[in-house]
Amino acid sequence: MDFTVSEKMQAILDLVNEFIDRELLPLEAEFTHRGFREMLPVIREKQEKVRQMELWAPNFPTDCGGMGLTLLEHGLLSEALGRSPLGHYVFWCQAPDAGNVEILHLHGTPEQKEKYLKPLVAGRIRSCFAMTEVDMPGSNPVLLETTAVADGDHYIINGHKWFATAADGADFAIVMAVTNPEAPEYLQASMIIVPTDTPGFNLVRNIPIMGHEGEDYFSHGEILFQSCRVPRSNLLGPEGHGFVIAQERLGPGRIHHCMRWLGICQRSFEMMCRRANARKITRDGKPLASRQIIQAWVAECAADIQAARLMTLYAAWKIDTQGAKAARHEISMIKFVVANTMQKVVDRALQVHGGLGMTDDTILAFFFRHERAARIYDGADEVHKVSLARRLLQLYPPKA
Ligand SMILES: Cc1cc2nc3c(=O)[nH]c(=O)nc-3n(C[C@H](O)[C@H](O)[C@H](O)COP(=O)(O)OP(=O)(O)OC[C@H]3O[C@@H](n4cnc5c(N)ncnc54)[C@H](O)[C@@H]3O)c2cc1C
Repeated sequence: MDFTVSEKMQAILDLVNEFIDRELLPLEAEFTHRGFREMLPVIREKQEKVRQMELWAPNFPTDCGGMGLTLLEHGLLSEALGRSPLGHYVFWCQAPDAGNVEILHLHGTPEQKEKYLKPLVAGRIRSCFAMTEVDMPGSNPVLLETTAVADGDHYIINGHKWFATAADGADFAIVMAVTNPEAPEYLQASMIIVPTDTPGFNLVRNIPIMGHEGEDYFSHGEILFQSCRVPRSNLLGPEGHGFVIAQERLGPGRIHHCMRWLGICQRSFEMMCRRANARKITRDGKPLASRQIIQAWVAECAADIQAARLMTLYAAWKIDTQGAKAARHEISMIKFVVANTMQKVVDRALQVHGGLGMTDDTILAFFFRHERAARIYDGADEVHKVSLARRLLQLYPPKA
């Protein structure tokens, strides 16, 4: 097994790490205090630099304007980008747009690709994904109440969604709605493209997350669909295939999150070590790092991050070489392992910073607030564990 990073990839990683350190980390204080929307002009300037470096949309297919990195290559890059909360957005490979690009690329009609995919990859528009409902369990997404009823050439959509990440300011949503209520459970829902300026698409609010509503890209919307009428030509993929397509979207989507979380782990780890070395805790100038309990945290976090990284890159390699279906076990494993590793590492880093860690004067509190959700979205820890265990147990029936 060869762990060598190719020369091409190493050159990209060096460039990106340097860019993140020089251009994005200095923006963090302003970002956490002023919010995303006010920062947009600066962010657009940084995006222009990324285009000039020819690193725009690194993981998107080349035939629609991306760089076409493999998942394994994107995994390496994503760790570098994840060191800043703005990294993925500035390089244009952020969720939920990344998942929506994949769906449109695989299932969009030529007209949908022209109208939605091309401008999305080019960064001219943004999107969101609305599946989870207020009154139904997201962990069992076949239970949906949102309906899309055919009416001539149109669908009329009614329903109540929430946690549509980045709905605020998005140009269109990919909405999961029941179109075929009489069909078997897994064939009842469809994906439908809904432009957000359609009458009946109502963004009720940005949901406060641990005290912060967020805004624009950094927000999670509650959406009420009230007789929202869209052409039937906005159907994405075959009618009734919403869940089949969602499975395709969520597999790679999960690994994208894990790759980003590795960057958060690495950044928090670096901050923890620097603070432990710099913070003097005795009159004769001994640093926090001189204490064995802190040393143990440093060693444990380093080992946990390395384990999470290797698991994630292995899953990426398996998806690249054998497809997402063959990597189902690996995807489920990394989803809960990396999410928990990140939570532990961010928490330890915050603890080492003491009171400072609780403030917004470092990025750690932002990571702590925003990333707790990692253990819930795209399949809660428990759901992944239960389904992984079920599949593994089937491999070992009792001997007759
Ligand atoms: C920050 C954030 C961003 C999100 N972004 C999006 C988005 O862009 N689009 C979108 O459609 N949705 C999004 N979601 C929604 C997310 O996917 C759901 O919250 C998730 O699927 C869980 O669904 P639920 O909240 O309804 O929890 P429930 O389904 O009610 O589950 C609650 C808890 O019960 C436990 N549980 C559930 N089922 C089982 C089981 N079978 N066995 C054992 N334990 C179980 C788990 O601990 C789970 O956390 C987002 C959520 C968050 C927090």
